[in-house]
Amino acid sequence: MESRYSADWQKVVEFHGHVCPGLASGYRLAKAALAALGYSDPGEGDLVTIAESDRCTIDAFQIVLGCTIGKGKLYLKTTGKQAFIVGCRKSGQAVRVVALPYKYSPESDALNKKVMSGGATEDEYRHYKSEQENRIQEIMTLPDVALLKVEVRAEVLPERELIYSSPCCEYCGEQVMEPWARIRAGKVACIQCAIDIRR
Ligand SMILES: [Zn+2]
Ligand SMILES: [Zn+2]
Repeated sequence: MESRYSADWQKVVEFHGHVCPGLASGYRLAKAALAALGYSDPGEGDLVTIAESDRCTIDAFQIVLGCTIGKGKLYLKTTGKQAFIVGCRKSGQAVRVVALPYKYSPESDALNKKVMSGGATEDEYRHYKSEQENRIQEIMTLPDVALLKVEVRAEVLPERELIYSSPCCEYCGEQVMEPWARIRAGKVACIQCAIDIRR
């Protein structure tokens, strides 16, 4: 079914390693944030994501918006909500996208739990898979208003990450970035060596 979707969805799935409703939801949320900020190509804006969830949904933001953790464009502020603030450093604008409440039926819920605990029969697993596919299909095709809300936010965006010099710890010889360096007996020490008196 994925082949019907665009190339960036394919990339999201490859990156995440499986297709799941959470990932599909993240994809729609990231796309909605991008559109609300007025972009079709994330490369046009210098985007940064503040994620309120660290589950499946977050991976879509890393691929669709290029907000990866290594580039200093992804910040975690976990609240346990499927909500993400996306800001544009170029324009200073920010939006918060939130998945609308969705509840599986009690039967689906029970089946999900059974599969997760590894106690499902083959038939039950097949049923679970087809229910998941239906839900993913739904998420990928429903209009935005049925899936999510977008709020405009006055948000102070995190500063760009600075480049630091990295002196060597004088105890273990490993390099450490300056903001993490300590002093022990007048010498530069990494955090481990500063508190580990055996060294
Ligand atoms: Zn997943
Ligand atoms: Zn050290």
